[in-house]
Amino acid sequence: MTLDSEITQLAGIGPAVAKKFAILGITTLAQLIDYLPRRYEDYSLLTGAGQLKPGPVTIKAKIEHLTGRYVRRGMHITEAIGRDSSGSVRLIWFNQPYRATAIKRDQAYYVSGVYELSHQRFGIMNPSLELVSDFPVNTARILPIYRETKGLTSRQIRAALSQAVPLMAALPETLPAWLVQDQKLLSRASALRAMHFPESSRQLAGAQARLGFEEVFGLALASLLNKRANQHEHALSIPFDEHLARTFVKHLPFQLTDAQRQVIWQIYQDLQKPQPMNRLVEGDVGSGKTVVATMAALMALQQGWQVAFMAPTELLARQHAATVYDLLKPLGLETTVDLLVGSLKPAQKARARAAIASGQAQFIVGTQALIQEKVDLPKLALVVIDEQHRFGVDQRKALQIKAGHMPHVLSLTATPIPRSLALTLYGELDISVLGVKPPGRPPIITEIVSPNSRPQVYAAITQQLAAGRQLFVVCPLISESDTLTVRSAELVYEEMSQKDFKNWRIGLLHGKLKPDAKAAVMAAFVRHELDILVSTTVVEVGVDVPNATVMLLEGAERFGLAQIHQLRGRVGRASHQGYCYLLLSDSKAPSRRLRAVESSNDGFKLAELDLELRGPGAIYGSLQHGQLDLRVAKLSDVKLIASARSAAQDFLDKSENLVHYHELAAQVARLRTVTNLN
Ligand code: ADP
Ligand code: MG
Repeated sequence: MTLDSEITQLAGIGPAVAKKFAILGITTLAQLIDYLPRRYEDYSLLTGAGQLKPGPVTIKAKIEHLTGRYVRRGMHITEAIGRDSSGSVRLIWFNQPYRATAIKRDQAYYVSGVYELSHQRFGIMNPSLELVSDFPVNTARILPIYRETKGLTSRQIRAALSQAVPLMAALPETLPAWLVQDQKLLSRASALRAMHFPESSRQLAGAQARLGFEEVFGLALASLLNKRANQHEHALSIPFDEHLARTFVKHLPFQLTDAQRQVIWQIYQDLQKPQPMNRLVEGDVGSGKTVVATMAALMALQQGWQVAFMAPTELLARQHAATVYDLLKPLGLETTVDLLVGSLKPAQKARARAAIASGQAQFIVGTQALIQEKVDLPKLALVVIDEQHRFGVDQRKALQIKAGHMPHVLSLTATPIPRSLALTLYGELDISVLGVKPPGRPPIITEIVSPNSRPQVYAAITQQLAAGRQLFVVCPLISESDTLTVRSAELVYEEMSQKDFKNWRIGLLHGKLKPDAKAAVMAAFVRHELDILVSTTVVEVGVDVPNATVMLLEGAERFGLAQIHQLRGRVGRASHQGYCYLLLSDSKAPSRRLRAVESSNDGFKLAELDLELRGPGAIYGSLQHGQLDLRVAKLSDVKLIASARSAAQDFLDKSENLVHYHELAAQVARLRTVTNLN
């Protein structure tokens, strides 16, 4: 038998069982060994049969007085007594009639199961039995529990794995020997054997540490290699024009914050290099990222080159185009700005495309899909990506092919990236943090509200409206749902328009509206032709309405932590005090998540917590744990990540060659397409 052998080579696995294994993705022995337990139950401790306490127990006993009988409705009960020198205990099996014949008297068995009360008497229910041996598989050990499928139990999986133990010992090491030694890791062979058949919890922890390290090491190496590859690409070196920068700043209606100055300075350093910049600017909502991006673009425009500014939605693209237009106007550069969005009329689109292709349009604002797929950007020097978490190698390569060189990439995000992720997934990015918001903005007041306090909240809101401010209401759904007791945007809109807020101008915005209808509603709210905007999360990112001071979230328990933080960033963007009300659907106690957003305005802290509670996928949308291949490691494990990251750096510093590490190379190759996120 080899790792490549089919599992049908194992005793007890015929074609029918093999089909079940195939459902779990297991056809070869290598795949079987790679099938890691989901969790463990500890039956390793032996107790005397006369000294049992309720819970999982294991005894070493002889089996006596075996009886089997059918009781009502065809239910079968097998009973027996397990006896050792300390006493005896009742053993009960339900619907396992074969038990009665399979058990040998006068032989010692390991008996593992849950000791509990059944029909007023204590006993061990449905225990597992095995003749005493050096290598029990289903009893008297820390028992692995696997993800099962119909007709295939953990017990059967263990039976298969127990036959593969000799093969596990021969598993090749995948990491460099020096690394295994430096990090005091178990060998891959011992680690996998211990994952399936741990001899102690300490050994199990060692196995998990080894496999977790391997996973994160692969990620870290992938991101470092991506970074290195990026540095070997060619980009247009964009000269810094100090006079231009000063003129731009002079015309701003505000003073740049120190944080903004610093970040802009970093960007200018990057842009002058002939290697592509790959920088992420993280700044809480309202920290002023748009002006930073515009200043970056300025230098490229001055050279006659092109800048693509990609927004996640058409709404935002339109808003950015208007903002950028205003910012560039004092310099006479506003004529270079062109908007490219799906809802343009065919003739307009054709005109925009022609202007872009000729290089006459230089600052192109649009949605990512549109700019990437359908446009020829001959003089592209810089790409700005607003609030998108996916802009990977492939996307950049596509732009490179069109432009003939790699564009500089500047990503903007309001989602703070926890340190652990920054070092692995985002390891290839240079990160700038806009840590300080423009002055004069008091922190937003956030309050969790139970449904019966709605009237008080409405009163507070009415006061704000009367003072000339505006209100966002965000609902988790567009329309009523049969299955959820959540108030939808349509319902809230109707109700507000007819009752408590009938004297105010209310708009409704959601994803099912046509793009121009959406844009019209949004524009009306921006111009203060509407006092209240009821919407779904389409307003989530980037929308800037400085006069809005209240964010009301309906069914707040349905929103993610990072999402709520984003949403509340829509208010309190000017000098007025901002308020965020988290209205619950029912009077259940609020979750730890909600209480965290209520008590903290610190985006980084909230992101760390979200990562811990829900994993990276929850924060970064499309990102799945599966893609990252993390089965053992937790991305909230900062210590593990720091050591894996520095080990990956060592690997490169030692000029190690992946060619010598077959499996590692394959893992890294796959991860390189995943880690390259902005
Ligand atoms: P975000 O970082 O969320 O994208 P924006 O770029 O939309 O933030 O900026 C939010 C608001 O703050 C805008 O109205 C912008 O004009 C304003 N702003 C940006 N920088 C400053 C500053 N240094 N001082 C005062 N207001 C600023
Ligand atoms: Mg923004």
